[in-house]
Amino acid sequence: MPQTTDSAAARPSTHWEYLLPITAVHLLACIALLPGFFSWSGLALALGGVIVFGTLGINLCYHRALSHRSLKLSSRVERVLATFALCSLEDTPARWVANHRLHHVHSDDTLDPHSPRDGVGWSHAGWLFRRAPGRHTYAFFDKYARDILADDYYRWLERNPFAILWIYAAHAIGFAAAGCAVGFLTGGSWQEATRLGASWLVWGAFVRTVLVWHITWSVNSLTHLFGYRSYATGEDSRNNWLVGLVAMGEGWHNNHHHDPSSASVQHRWWEVDGTYYVILLLERLGWATQVIRPRHLRRAAVPLADRAG
Ligand SMILES: [Zn+2]
Ligand SMILES: [Zn+2]
Repeated sequence: MPQTTDSAAARPSTHWEYLLPITAVHLLACIALLPGFFSWSGLALALGGVIVFGTLGINLCYHRALSHRSLKLSSRVERVLATFALCSLEDTPARWVANHRLHHVHSDDTLDPHSPRDGVGWSHAGWLFRRAPGRHTYAFFDKYARDILADDYYRWLERNPFAILWIYAAHAIGFAAAGCAVGFLTGGSWQEATRLGASWLVWGAFVRTVLVWHITWSVNSLTHLFGYRSYATGEDSRNNWLVGLVAMGEGWHNNHHHDPSSASVQHRWWEVDGTYYVILLLERLGWATQVIRPRHLRRAAVPLADRAG
């Protein structure tokens, strides 16, 4: 039986608000198996969208910028990237950040929201489908996401719980409309417009959402199960090359648990961290500042006489 943060008095129940949309988008993504919905441009949108909505939205903004404050984004860029993350339908910034910070404080102990010690399926997605009243209280958000709720946009999202669904629906309609427009302009018929609009909707929105979900969820499940450990971090985190590659660096999870405040998880030359390279680009453009380097580089920058120990 999985552990939750619920009090003994509050019986865990199904979290329908998550189970229904997640199931619905998985079913809608299955439409991609029908040959009439395939297009090469739709496939390109799905794969490119993993970078835009997953790497930029979830990895860079939700995880490294908001959860760990390992860099500071300009406010406009942060808003845009947070909205990309909302279009990944992975919860609001305050909830995502609070749960992630709880994971770091209680990694693989009984209060960890998604430890594989409670089951592989539980850590991958099952924890999302079980209501956890203890993680929906004012005290919980005040403890783990007070800084996030100080922001007007993020506070508005909490006060309007259906806003994330409307934002997701609007972006999906955007993919369909763009596909229709391009289909009409290139194919010259309403039939081609409808065909490409449907393809972009299914591949660009639904298939891509499912891909980003399972990539993020693999960081919670696989990187606490399989891989090598470079550091004795006191929990089960591991560096997993497959997740590291697919999740643009997030799979070097043992490195991350060792030094969570760093904007980079690359500790060896071959532990490629695509998300960090994007951060460096944003820094060059002046859109990201206060980028925290890995601990070994921070130590190297401190004069020997000033180092503790
Ligand atoms: Zn972890
Ligand atoms: Zn983290």
